Amino acid sequence: MTDRILMSQAQVGPIEEKYVLEALHSGWVAPLGPHVDAFEQEVAGRVGVRHALALSSGTAALHLALLHLGARPGTKVVVPSMTFGATANAVVYTGADPVFVDARTEDGNVDPDLMLESVRTLQAEGEHVVAAIPVDLFGRAADYTVLEPGLEELGVPLLEDAAEALGASLGDRPAGSFGRAAALSFNGNKIMTTSGGGMLLSDDDDLIAHARKLSTQSREPVPWYEHTEIGYNYRLSNILAALGRGQLERLDEMIARRREIRQRYATAFSDLPVTLLGKSDPERTDHDDNCWLTTLTADRGPDANALVEAMSAEQIEVRHLWKPMHLQPVFSGARVFGGAVCEGLFARGVTLPSGPALTDEQIERVITCMTEILTGTE
Ligand SMILES: *Cc1c(COP(=O)(O)O)cnc(C)c1O
Repeated sequence: MTDRILMSQAQVGPIEEKYVLEALHSGWVAPLGPHVDAFEQEVAGRVGVRHALALSSGTAALHLALLHLGARPGTKVVVPSMTFGATANAVVYTGADPVFVDARTEDGNVDPDLMLESVRTLQAEGEHVVAAIPVDLFGRAADYTVLEPGLEELGVPLLEDAAEALGASLGDRPAGSFGRAAALSFNGNKIMTTSGGGMLLSDDDDLIAHARKLSTQSREPVPWYEHTEIGYNYRLSNILAALGRGQLERLDEMIARRREIRQRYATAFSDLPVTLLGKSDPERTDHDDNCWLTTLTADRGPDANALVEAMSAEQIEVRHLWKPMHLQPVFSGARVFGGAVCEGLFARGVTLPSGPALTDEQIERVITCMTEILTGTE
């Protein structure tokens, strides 16, 4: 039997091994340490922001930024419906209510005009909207050309969920540099990994200083343990930061491989009735995606369920797009603006194997199986 082809497997090698062993040998095995400091500086430098705060997850980064922005019971945070649950969960941790917004067809990212419209509607109703969290879906920046000035005008802080988008850019600006602050994730299957981890990025000194304090149980700067607000245990360990530094050295190489894989799919499927998300809009040449996951919808024929099942039978892991938040049982009471676009994408869209460790033979196998299923010659 052939090996199962996975969607996005982490890839580590001798560089990562060297960093992690160095961390172990140095004796800095506790949370914090020199690799954490260096990792923060390197990521901040790469994205072009003043501060980076290494944390135990991307969810923690969203949570702490929201707390600083004043999210609490009685406030609202506007969130794309098509995202990973973590974006909305972080809002709920603060006691605020997530309000969901539909996607746009061409890339599944939040519809920027509808996001602004939802804020205007909520404000007109007297609601206090403390943040909007556009998500850079599957490694493609949301439409900040509309969102940044629009939210600024409405007086609502923009928190960028760049968990999937390190290495992507829009125009000359890297993902992670938009809005008041941004969250990155280094979870196991993301564009690069620390096994588990995340980072909060910002140019705002106060925001990062506050989040840093919250992340270490809100310890006050006195000789004993003194607390004036509730804190969290959210820091990243020195060993994991070492792994992250190794991954960061190879980030461009890993992105290049994911891009190559996307290009192969695009070429192979060009005559088939499919649409690659983000590739259907030739006008938007300002987007430089990191190609974390290549996603497609079949224009006719098999829906997402059928594609996932048929590919699984061939030992190929193909997954559904994020199930919209407004369809999640846990958010059944939440408010949503629109919803039909992301429902349609969810019904027909799948993510293809996209990891940098895939061999050319494996990609060929994905292409062959997908072509057979889509053309019904199976
Ligand atoms: C992965 C992810 C997160 C959460 O990151 P973790 O490090 O897993 O906590 C948040 N938002 C989006 C869009 C993600 O894909």
